[in-house]
Amino acid sequence: MPELPEVENARRILIRAELPGRAFTSVRVGWGNSVRSPSVEDFVLGLHSRRVEEIDRRGKYLLLALDSGETLIIHLGMTGGLSIQPQTQAADPMVRHSFALDDRRELRFRDPRKFGHLWLTPDAGQTLPDLGPEPLSPEFTTEALAAKLAGRNAPIKAMLLEQSVVAGLGNLYVDESLYGAGIHPLRTAQALDNGEIVRLQESIVGCLNAATAQYDRARDAEWPDPPSALHTWTIPRKDGESCPKCAAAIAGIRVRGRGTFFCPECQKESC
Ligand SMILES: [Zn+2]
Repeated sequence: MPELPEVENARRILIRAELPGRAFTSVRVGWGNSVRSPSVEDFVLGLHSRRVEEIDRRGKYLLLALDSGETLIIHLGMTGGLSIQPQTQAADPMVRHSFALDDRRELRFRDPRKFGHLWLTPDAGQTLPDLGPEPLSPEFTTEALAAKLAGRNAPIKAMLLEQSVVAGLGNLYVDESLYGAGIHPLRTAQALDNGEIVRLQESIVGCLNAATAQYDRARDAEWPDPPSALHTWTIPRKDGESCPKCAAAIAGIRVRGRGTFFCPECQKESC
């Protein structure tokens, strides 16, 4: 599932492909349920002839600011991906939506499982759900993380998956962050001491920066056909594999239904 580094990679690909400055000449919505608001008809009409001015990201959401003052919000869901291709190039059958551009190219939204979502809104802040601090921004301090975890009785793994705690983390980068910080995924959020919260904040920022840098290198090396998914984590995601730090066997459990991997030696349950 695309998490912050994958969505940021998608944003940087669209910018490098010079989507900003281009206008939509026609829009084809192939799966109406993807459009959350407004109606599909108003969505298509509202995008017509509108120029993309800027592309931002908030958590796992891409925000395309248009010259109408409205924002096209894209969430890639579980399996979604974006590309810009010539209109003459045959589209993959899993492309659900296409946005023709005024330079004979097309923004294509490939979404095999149809879990992606689209919005066209005059006020992105109102449309987006409650999102916690952006982890690669200065607002994501140890104090900000501590405030989000205070009084919360849930396992730290479950808390970090909540977008209102930290924006943009998903299953992979939560496991990687906890591994880097040496914190067991089932530890109770409010039981973490200050030193652990400091380590966790640093680990979240560190693993997201490392992943983003890996995408940057791959994009440069493989342009114009950059990868949309890379293996950017260090913890093995398999039961019984050796921990790269201590060689103990990695354990796999489920936390709130999500496959979770940790090192029982580096990440002790009680401390
Ligand atoms: Zn270990």
